[in-house]
Formats: sequence, C-alpha cells, structure tokens
Amino acid sequence: MLRALRFQIPTAKLFTKSQRFASTLTFIETSKDGNLVSSSLNALTAAAQLGNPIHAVILGSHASTAANILKSSVQCEKLTKILVSDNIGFDHYLPEKVAPLFAHLLKNDEYSHFVSASSTVGKTNLPRLGALLDLQPINDIIKILDSRTFSRPIYAGNAIATVQCSQPKKLISIRASAFEPITQGSTDSAVIEEIQQIEPETFIDVKWEGETLMKSERPELGSASRVVTGGRALKDKETFEKILVPLADVLNAGIGATRAAVDNGFCDNSLQVGQTGKVVAPDLYVAIGVSGAIQHLAGMKDSKVIVAINNDPEAPVFKVADYSLEGDAYEVVPELVRRLKEM
Ligand SMILES: Cc1cc2nc3c(=O)[nH]c(=O)nc-3n(C[C@H](O)[C@H](O)[C@H](O)COP(=O)(O)OP(=O)(O)OC[C@H]3O[C@@H](n4cnc5c(N)ncnc54)[C@H](O)[C@@H]3O)c2cc1C
Repeated sequence: MLRALRFQIPTAKLFTKSQRFASTLTFIETSKDGNLVSSSLNALTAAAQLGNPIHAVILGSHASTAANILKSSVQCEKLTKILVSDNIGFDHYLPEKVAPLFAHLLKNDEYSHFVSASSTVGKTNLPRLGALLDLQPINDIIKILDSRTFSRPIYAGNAIATVQCSQPKKLISIRASAFEPITQGSTDSAVIEEIQQIEPETFIDVKWEGETLMKSERPELGSASRVVTGGRALKDKETFEKILVPLADVLNAGIGATRAAVDNGFCDNSLQVGQTGKVVAPDLYVAIGVSGAIQHLAGMKDSKVIVAINNDPEAPVFKVADYSLEGDAYEVVPELVRRLKEM
C-alpha cells in the first residue's frame, strides 16, 4: 500500500544572489571505454522534463570523445552545451576529485538544478557535493512534479514521499528505471566547451590504487531487458550456476541474486538486487527460489513482467508476480529451459 507523505527541505543560506537564468547541469557518466553509461541517458530525460536549458558535464580521459558521441546519438533540444574536462584525474570518478569540480561549476548563478543518475557513481558523489554547497540532495527520485517538487520512494519502496525543495539549487539523483532514456538522434546545436582548470588545492589528494572487475559477456544487470535471479533455495555456487546459467543463456538475460544468495557465497555481491543492491526494472524478471522479502521487492517490483518459481504457495513473491509457478526449482527450471529451446 503506497502512502503519500510530504516533506519540506528548508532554504539554504549559501546562495543569496538571485538566479539570473535557470539551467540544469547534468552529469553524464562514461564507461571505461568511453561509451555513455545508459543510466545517464535516463538522467538526461529527467533533466529535459525540468524544462530548462541543459548543460551536460562529462569528465575523464574520454570526455571529448564521449561529448561527440552524446551530440551524435541523442535528440535533445534542451541540450545547449556540453562541458568537458579530459583530465585523467577524473577517471574513476573519485568523489574527492569530482564533487569539488561540480561544486565549482554550480556556484555559477546560472544553474538552478544538478541532475545525475542514482548510479554507484552518482550515489557516491552527491552527498559530498551537498556538503560542499551546504545543500540537501534529493536522492533517487522517480517523478518530477514541477521544478521543485519530486516523488521518491522511502521505507524500501513501501511509501512514496512528495518532496518540495525550497533551496535555490536542487541537487537531484534520479532512479534510472523510472525515466525512459532520452530519444535517439542527434543534437548538432549543442556546443562543446572545455572546463577551465580549477585551483588544485580545492581537491583532496587521493589516488586510485586499482580495482578487481567481474568480466562477463552477459547483459549487465542494471540495464538488461531480462533478468533471471536466484535465491537461497539454490544451495551453493555450483547449483546456483547450474540452475540459472542455462535459463539466462536461452533468454539472453542478466543474472541477479538475493542478499541471502550473495551472503552465502553463491555469486558476487555486484549481482545483488534489492534495497541494498541494484534496483532493476527489466521487461522480464524471473525469480527462482526467492521468497520475496520486502528488501528484495524494493529492487525489482517495477519490472514489467515478473515470473516467480517457488515451492511454497504462501511465498510473498507470488503477490507481486504476473506468472506464478508453484513447484520445485530443480525440476521446473530445466523443463522451462527445454521448452524455451524448442520454441
Ligand atoms: C537492511 C536490510 C537490507 C536488505 N537488503 C536486501 C537486498 O538488497 N536484497 C535482498 O534480496 N535481500 C535483502 N535483505 C534480506 C532480505 O530480508 C531477505 O533475507 C532475503 O531477500 C531473502 O533471500 P531469499 O529469498 O533468497 O531467501 P529466503 O527468504 O530463505 O527464501 C528462499 C525461498 O526459496 C523457496 N524454496 C526453497 N526450496 C525451493 C525449491 N527447491 N524450489 C523452489 N523454491 C524453493 C522457499 O520457499 C523460500 O520462499 C535485506 C535485509 C535487511 C535487514
């Protein structure tokens, strides 16, 4: 049951000058190979809904290339400028480096809004940006009601808060699954502009040491149009893979997991779906041996079609499922794979 709540965020004292223009600064994330991260295209849609001219900002060693990709791949008449910094120091989007730059840009009276996706990068940067500007960010919004009123889920998605923000600048992160990606096409009129260097002492001196990446040919969980998820019922890593991989292969789906599956070592924690994992809304979500705990539902209940396979007829997951298959996953899933292959 959804309830509407209303909160007010007080006006911050930092910006005393009146805003000359209202523009929206929108952070466009790129992947390691310089491609646009899909959730940023959803952020651009949200920015366009605010109705103001949009300046996109792209950072890191691929910034200029990505700016040209953006111009030639999206149709967004509000997008007037793309600010770039090809500085390698912005690679990996360390908040100690990125947030001060955003803060510097946002001190310009021109900007009334800052929009980014509620991705891992967005979630890491926004609190620091809010602290630097003494502004309260509004996280994970799912709807723009007007330029200062937004809806966002709270209590693991069990209530929707309507938040009205009277701050002169609104720092917003958007839930990508709640906004369509911006229309494909081209925006030739957008100008690309290099960001002026800012004082080095503005940045905290941190260094990127390294990372361990999970390599997979599979569709990425956050953007896959089909997701197959396994729960505790799949016993161990070997069984998890034995049951899920053939179904994911035949459906060309991404693989997800419950927290119980992750905590028991069945798979990497980057696959966790839910309140403390990823929020997904694919066209098809198949939940196998998943009870449907509220924290899991928070991450998948907006999927277009939900199929649940569970041997307990009382499992809460059946309450949100469009198709409920009551049975033993060890029998049902291989049979499903066999039938799908025949089709
Ligand atoms: C603060 C907090 C945050 C959390 N965040 C998340 C989160 O982000 N994501 C998340 O998933 N959880 C999260 N949890 C944990 C959540 O509460 C549940 O514990 C978890 O989702 C349960 O995972 P599960 O469904 O795999 O396991 P269980 O609840 O144990 O369910 C297993 C299901 O498998 C069924 N089953 C058993 N054997 C078979 C079989 N042979 N065939 C078919 N079905 C079978 C059972 O009937 C049961 O319904 C969080 C909890 C807390 C407190």
